[in-house]
Amino acid sequence: MKKKIITYFLTVSILISAIFFAGGCQSSCAKNKNLTTYDITATLDGNTLTATQTVDFYNGYDTTFTELKFNLFGNAFRKGAKYNPIANEHLSQAYYDGQNFGGMEILSVSSNETPLNFNVGGQDLTLLTVELSKEVFPNERYLLTINYTLNLAKVVARTGVNKSTINLGNFYPILCAYDTGVGFYECLYYAIGDPFYSDCANYNVTLSADSEYVFAHSGALSKEEINGNVKTVEFSLQNARSVAVVLSKKFNVEKRLVDGVEISYYHYNDANPKLSLDTAEKSIRYFNQTFGAYPYSTYSVVETAFVQGGMEYPALVMISDNLEEKAYQEVIVHETAHQWWQTAVGNNEIEYGFLDEGLAEYSVVLFYENHPEYGYTRQTLIDSSNKSYKVFCSVYDQIFGNLNTKMLRPLNEFSGEFEYVNMAYIKPCIMYDTLRTTVGEQTFFSALKKYYEKYKFINATPYDLVGTFEKAGADTNGYFESFFSGKAIL
Ligand SMILES: [Zn+2]
Repeated sequence: MKKKIITYFLTVSILISAIFFAGGCQSSCAKNKNLTTYDITATLDGNTLTATQTVDFYNGYDTTFTELKFNLFGNAFRKGAKYNPIANEHLSQAYYDGQNFGGMEILSVSSNETPLNFNVGGQDLTLLTVELSKEVFPNERYLLTINYTLNLAKVVARTGVNKSTINLGNFYPILCAYDTGVGFYECLYYAIGDPFYSDCANYNVTLSADSEYVFAHSGALSKEEINGNVKTVEFSLQNARSVAVVLSKKFNVEKRLVDGVEISYYHYNDANPKLSLDTAEKSIRYFNQTFGAYPYSTYSVVETAFVQGGMEYPALVMISDNLEEKAYQEVIVHETAHQWWQTAVGNNEIEYGFLDEGLAEYSVVLFYENHPEYGYTRQTLIDSSNKSYKVFCSVYDQIFGNLNTKMLRPLNEFSGEFEYVNMAYIKPCIMYDTLRTTVGEQTFFSALKKYYEKYKFINATPYDLVGTFEKAGADTNGYFESFFSGKAIL
């Protein structure tokens, strides 16, 4: 999940703070107009979404395709799933009405009304493979239609129904990211971190549901109409690695135009919504100025039930509805930073979770450093990070006796959230802050701007980040490697 976060800046107890955390491609999302386009028409009836999805696949790769593969994240919530989408420590809170299951069923796949062979398989029945009716060569397009249903579990999660909202994150079959020489990347729904990886595409979505719902969604609204007790909303988002929607009958909505971006805050439990909207505005302004322009025309900050701090999607972030006031602000800044680090500059979040999380978390430090009204300084924040990290090392070593401080490892190689938060959030903060002091302000910020500009709408690797700093004039290869490999002693 993108997810998650925490309040380690805010609490003295490192252990408690480390429980939370926030939770984001390496293949190429083409940086041009030739992108795959999804047209999704869906109706939500009760807890079931019924959808027709047209995928106008654009082959922007150096490969000829005879099949396409899609991740089916909705099927991770089915009974019998091998990978539990909810971490053990959150099970009781997430399954508020007892253990509950959902699932996704692919009804048909066709191309120009000709049925195509398909298979739902992979390592955990979360992978749809479609046999194409012809070879699709580089720069060619192929149109296919998928009919499916998504049954939503009663679960507080990215995808599910809870007491306050219906969360539609990762709700549709999404093309696996394609890495040249590797192939389509199957995402397994690990409970730790955000197990996602996708290439950018264009989206047009038409969603119908009970007219009493307020729809919070990624992208720009193009149409909204009510017929009887059914509301239909149409929206679109270009050059995005996913889209998400949150529905609620409780939402209050406030909007503000900031640097040409329409910011919307959907809330129902936040005791100080003005402060939260102010924080969203300040975040957009600050990151625009510091990293480069926000990539979309709209930004929705959406309060939802959520067991972690928050979760990022392109042009929409989910913010947990049970946070302390200061934590609301921290999560909003962190999730907003993900619009630069994960949404725009993508990465494989399973293999390189620290890449977007670490940058988002250090962006929070930069934000607070430049907004003293929130009561933090760079020094106190980094001191807190150092203290947290040292406690982690000490506790972990004593309990498990085999401390592993490698940042660069896949999600399934972390023992739990405590270790992941320290390696993907806290340690990268220390890494970036020391790097900044070493290479100087100008080189540091110049490199981040170049990284954003070069990898915006495509997927980066840790080595792309290192290469960008090297090109900016910083001899940092050994420095980064020592953190990636765990050899750096803090
Ligand atoms: Zn995050």
